[in-house]
Amino acid sequence: MMNTLARTVSRRAFTASRNASTLVVADLDGAAMGPSTLSAVTAAVAIGGDCTLLAVGDAAAAAECGTVDGVSKVLHAATDSYVGGETVASAIASAMESGSYTHIIAASSNLGKNAIPRAAAKAGASPVTDVIEVHGEDTFVRPMYAGNALAKVKNSDAVKFMTVRPTNFDKAGTGNSAAVEALSFGSADASPEFVSASQSQSDRPDLSAADVVVAGGRGMKNGENFGMLETLADKLGGAVGASRAAVDAGFVPNELQVGQTGKVVAPNLYVAVGISGAIQHLSGMKDSKTIVAINKDKEAPIFSVSDYGLVADLFDAVPEFTEKC
Ligand code: FAD
Repeated sequence: MMNTLARTVSRRAFTASRNASTLVVADLDGAAMGPSTLSAVTAAVAIGGDCTLLAVGDAAAAAECGTVDGVSKVLHAATDSYVGGETVASAIASAMESGSYTHIIAASSNLGKNAIPRAAAKAGASPVTDVIEVHGEDTFVRPMYAGNALAKVKNSDAVKFMTVRPTNFDKAGTGNSAAVEALSFGSADASPEFVSASQSQSDRPDLSAADVVVAGGRGMKNGENFGMLETLADKLGGAVGASRAAVDAGFVPNELQVGQTGKVVAPNLYVAVGISGAIQHLSGMKDSKTIVAINKDKEAPIFSVSDYGLVADLFDAVPEFTEKC
């Protein structure tokens, strides 16, 4: 079945500027650089001009940021405080005092979504969020109405603040050796206190970055049946995802939710099992390269975005699919 929804991926800039100077906020994961940083750098390179990475936190992660192609230098803001939106917004303000930037970019991650609006408010600017296409220095495309409409936004702020959706920008390469400079910065307006982190441990790849996602919906009937999808995901080397209905019913934890109010994914292969294909779910996965749907209702909307559709009872089809993989 052909995918009838417009694919929104555009990975090229139309008119890259030579005069732009972009500060990209790196997403750090402890002592490592998070992969969404690479997509944010690609967006900055599409705008054109110079690209500086701001790494708030660990020194080893900042050094890793220096390996990203297209980056001219890394500003490392060391801190003992918890690295939340407040801390990063304060570091952005200090970086803006020491350098002259036309754009401040972060990935649409938890950190980026927290820090960019705070930094923009401090600068009296309006952030453009969830950018999926760069059309030059001041014009960007972002989704609206759960991805039903795409808005082309022209931003006239002197310094443009934006978050970019990582799945819509290829990851920048590595191999560079950009210099790392220390950045001192003032204390955050409000200092959040770190209480504890609760993260489920899994040997499967991270849902947002996985090459293959096997997702289940309300049709799975209960959490135990998700074991079938885990077996299939493990065979395919993928992650497990879920619809909101499956999460709300308590089948699986919230962090597996894909969609408008969950994670946005764009793997090479997305297998939707017992998922009807509500627009809020589609907005989180429709940019997947190949979509396979298994549903017993041949009228289910998921089939309108599927490349391959199987009208079948999932309890027969999934074990057979897994056996043949
Ligand atoms: P259903 O719509 O109930 O579909 C279940 C499907 O399973 C059906 O198509 C049925 O035919 C099929 N099925 C049942 N049994 C079998 C079987 N044995 N074999 C094969 N197929 C079977 N939803 C999200 O997913 N993500 C979001 O981020 C999200 N955000 C939302 C935000 C807002 C503001 C709102 C209002 C809604 C949001 N939703 C989101 C909810 C969304 O509207 C749908 O309710 C939800 O996606 C439905 O999940 P589902 O497809 O699993 O369930």
